[in-house]
Amino acid sequence: MSNVPVAVVTGSNKGIGFAIVRALCKQFPGDVYLTARDTGRGQEAVAKLQEEGLHALFHQLDIDDLQSIRALRDFLKEKYGGLNVLVNNAGIAFKVHDTTPFAVQAEVTLKTNFFGTRNVCTELLPLVKPYGKVVNVSSMVSSSALGGCSKELQQKFRSNTITEDELVELMTKFIQDTKKSVHEKEGWPNTAYGVSKIGVTVLSRIQARMLNEKRKGDHILLNACCPGWVRTDMAGPKATKSPDEGAETPVYLALLPSDADGPHGQFVSDKTVRTW
Ligand code: NAP
Repeated sequence: MSNVPVAVVTGSNKGIGFAIVRALCKQFPGDVYLTARDTGRGQEAVAKLQEEGLHALFHQLDIDDLQSIRALRDFLKEKYGGLNVLVNNAGIAFKVHDTTPFAVQAEVTLKTNFFGTRNVCTELLPLVKPYGKVVNVSSMVSSSALGGCSKELQQKFRSNTITEDELVELMTKFIQDTKKSVHEKEGWPNTAYGVSKIGVTVLSRIQARMLNEKRKGDHILLNACCPGWVRTDMAGPKATKSPDEGAETPVYLALLPSDADGPHGQFVSDKTVRTW
């Protein structure tokens, strides 16, 4: 088994994830795994970094596929006895003018952004070594969508006692409500991406609390963040930040020094803790 530190970035064949891997290759003292659901696209991305003189390793990972997540888990367990840095970056968004029915957009978006990210956490968090870092890439849209929720929902999503099961129930209810076209009446905002990212931010707050309760002595720091508005296939060419600039906050959180006791359980953008 290797004692080399190891970092894993989900959805990193392009966009912000690719830029996070690039930065980690330069700054992380260990093995850096670029992961992708499509092996061809992943290996092309590794080759592109190779041309820049950077050495990333590759492992397949489709966060929608539990078998794929578990294959990565078993690989990390066997080869490294765990992992040191996990960046949950993979995500999807329908374009604003997409005509796919809203209920379908809700189900598909939450499947990857919330349930997929949660499944990766369920399988990989127990493997994170002491002093490890976990970064869940959420979005400022989670904050604005929270503002668009009913008072009752806002209270639940800001609660310091909400459980993961309760959060899953709420995310499932959103999907069901969209199918019955009652989501607005039930206090939800009209954004599937926004609700999926509320899920990611609240999940991060819950996970950080669980680490405090169950693994206090392990000094693991776990946060959600927004990369900013970044020029990628998702956000388009008009966005203000380059992918390398978008990677800055996630990489800052992934490389917090071992004597840092925070941020932890926070929502961070531009390297600054934001009020949730
Ligand atoms: P992007 O260019 O569309 O890249 C998304 C990445 O996620 C791609 O590598 C994609 O792989 C991967 N992915 C999608 N579904 C996956 C799955 N089921 N399993 C594994 N990988 C999957 O988007 P981006 O702008 O870099 O976004 C990265 C993250 O930042 C997302 O979580 C996004 O919500 C968040 N974010 C972005 C912005 C922005 O302005 N760009 C702002 C706030 C937050 P494929 O190539 O195979 O599709």
